[in-house]
Amino acid sequence: MNSQNNGKVIVFSAPSGAGKTTLVRHLLGTSQGLELSVSVCSREKRKNETDGRDYCFLTAEEFKQKIDANEFLEWEEVYKDRFYGTLRSEVERIISSGKNIVFDIDVEGALTIKKEFGDDAVTIFIKPPSIDALLSRLNNRGTENKESLVERINKAEHELSFEDRFDFVVVNDDLAVAKKEVEGIVGHFLL
Ligand code: ADP
Ligand code: 5GP
Repeated sequence: MNSQNNGKVIVFSAPSGAGKTTLVRHLLGTSQGLELSVSVCSREKRKNETDGRDYCFLTAEEFKQKIDANEFLEWEEVYKDRFYGTLRSEVERIISSGKNIVFDIDVEGALTIKKEFGDDAVTIFIKPPSIDALLSRLNNRGTENKESLVERINKAEHELSFEDRFDFVVVNDDLAVAKKEVEGIVGHFLL
């Protein structure tokens, strides 16, 4: 993929379980010129996650200290008592390395980033084929307990109402098709 055009911003959002992480990881594997903005969060680390690669995991207390110190470009309490945010230092690090930045953030955070970067940013909403598919993907992923599963499904309806505010919507039904669509959108944007 063309990655001459550095300092561009590619933002992905989706209801939890739609396949955003799967598609973002695929995209990152297609080009050396793309780098993921690793967020900070205060939720528990999952078994398959690595601190510093998937997220920087902090306690809620540590997270709040960073809010007070104005270290975040944006942050949201995405789920009750669970905070997620983008550090200014992370964005500056990637920009100064000459790469394009990929964000995997919630719908509100995505719109904040779009406002910040304007035409240098493209926003892509990953949409599940149905709420049932979302539920079965979250179940199969095996990362949620009953309470967090319900919380995520309940939030999905609200998140789906944001799709019109994104530059592109990709329905992730057949994964191979969705991967190609994402590659096409990003390749065109970076041309
Ligand atoms: P998100 O980051 O949006 O929460 P994930 O990428 O973790 O979602 O995907 C949720 C689960 O669904 C994972 O187990 C993933 O392997 C699976 N998955 C992703 N895309 C598809 C698809 N098109 N069809 C079926 N399962 C999928
Ligand atoms: P998860 O707990 O499934 O990893 O993520 C929950 C939600 O938080 C997802 O929608 C994810 O995109 C979002 N998220 C991850 N990092 C950030 C961030 O830095 N800022 C915001 N606003 N949302 C984030």
